[in-house]
Amino acid sequence: MATVTQVSKAATCPNYVNGQWVESRSGRTLERRNPANRDDLLGPAPLSSREEIREAVEAARRAFPAWRDTPAPVRGKQLLRAAQIMAEEKDELARLLTREEGKTVGESLGEILRTINILEYTAGEARRLTGETLPSELPKNFAYTIRQPLGVVGLITPWNFPIAVPVWKIAPALVCGNTVVWKPSELTPFTSRYVVDILARAGLPAGVLNMVNGAGEEAGDELVEHPAVRALSFTGSCEVGSLIYAKAARQMKKVQCEMGGKNPVVVLEDADLELAATSTVMGAFGSTGQRCTATSRIIVTEAIADKFVQMLLERTRQLKVGNGAEPGTQVGPSVDEAQFNKVQEYLEIGKREGKLLCGGERLRGGAYDKGYFTAPTLFDHVRPDARIAQEEIFGPVLSVIRVKDFDEAVRVASNIRYGLAASIFSTDANRIFQFTDRVECGIVHINSPTVGGEAHVPFGGTKASGLGERETGSTAIDFYTELKIVYVDYTGRKRETNIY
Ligand code: NAD
Repeated sequence: MATVTQVSKAATCPNYVNGQWVESRSGRTLERRNPANRDDLLGPAPLSSREEIREAVEAARRAFPAWRDTPAPVRGKQLLRAAQIMAEEKDELARLLTREEGKTVGESLGEILRTINILEYTAGEARRLTGETLPSELPKNFAYTIRQPLGVVGLITPWNFPIAVPVWKIAPALVCGNTVVWKPSELTPFTSRYVVDILARAGLPAGVLNMVNGAGEEAGDELVEHPAVRALSFTGSCEVGSLIYAKAARQMKKVQCEMGGKNPVVVLEDADLELAATSTVMGAFGSTGQRCTATSRIIVTEAIADKFVQMLLERTRQLKVGNGAEPGTQVGPSVDEAQFNKVQEYLEIGKREGKLLCGGERLRGGAYDKGYFTAPTLFDHVRPDARIAQEEIFGPVLSVIRVKDFDEAVRVASNIRYGLAASIFSTDANRIFQFTDRVECGIVHINSPTVGGEAHVPFGGTKASGLGERETGSTAIDFYTELKIVYVDYTGRKRETNIY
């Protein structure tokens, strides 16, 4: 059985370059503490220099030819081994994720199980890197397509799913024959270190996967600007995504950006209100609202609004907030002080823009004073154009928007810059499918929360929520490969007619 290596237990957070764990030479670090208990220090993580990113890109560039020529099914087997190691060590990894990011242990395990599915699914895709065979208009001619890797790809990831999001980029990138330089979030360096440790122990050759910790503006920017990086896959805020998209465009790099959301749930008169209320509270407050697909707007028709809001209120008040490592906790802390302060600012804005029904403040006393805890908050009578209804808060805050009918609900759901996920609760099949057609977003859930996704199903948003091919599933392979078209003529003669 594989065992956790020394590096995953060490107090420092080295970079991983050319198959070696190397301490950063920058001399600058960022301290990472448990967001549920600031007394609990995980340790310092390096803010690496541009030079250290350049070294990692060079290692990836050198490793590329041999990795490209390794048969795809052999590349896939390394992911299967990583899935096995992750499954064996899931409890240890879950405890670390909870300690560093704050989500509950149950949520951490959920993220890890999804990651194992991604590794297994993508390993299988290695045997399906198929092209097409196409007939020709000419006799004894045909055409076919093959998929080829891009080269060195740069991956830049956020803190809120620090295992699943990086792996849903790393796994397809590697299986397709690319080599990788990954710049994880500054807020989750220890979890990232563990992920790389697992992949390294699975037997990846030196230089195929490299990880460099550092600040977005420095290490991240160097990865974006480096001319040897042929493609960039970014997940994070819309603000950073648009910056990266513009910079990468100047060098004609292939880009994929998955960004924020402000995801609505529409509840109609004919809905199962018990189901809608329970699902909405889970989608809004699970992971402390720190999911790109978290529910943050409830759009409910007037006829049932009073009754439904009361049901939401009862469920929200019952939520147990605390340290995610403790059994029974349903809502953990914000990830750090900056995110916590942002939530507190929106609570004040919300008090001016809507009617506060519960929460609306930080939690104080006892263990709460050591962490970044906010009471789950519900605002009612929020206008569709209010800031708390338009801007991503990324915390345990839910706004109720009342509308007159179905048509207004669809308009309000789409009238926003974001377009990631949306849900509808109804028993009317016609209106469900009309909503599915008309709502502007990448993922629709019917009678289920806005959150969640499966390893083999494409994932991503529209408008300011997503650019480029969808991640996970078959579309991930589209992003990490170029299609080459081959025309074959086996007549052995000079062509008499041309093809147009
Ligand atoms: P962020 O945009 O602040 O940071 C994301 C990553 O970008 C980090 O690694 C950061 O260091 C890096 N970065 C920052 N500035 C950079 C720059 N100038 N150049 C290059 N890299 C730079 O986002 P975050 O706070 O880490 O994550 C939360 C956001 O991520 C939310 O908006 C959330 O909705 C979004 N998210 C989206 C998805 C999705 O699939 N759509 C999934 C998870 C999170």
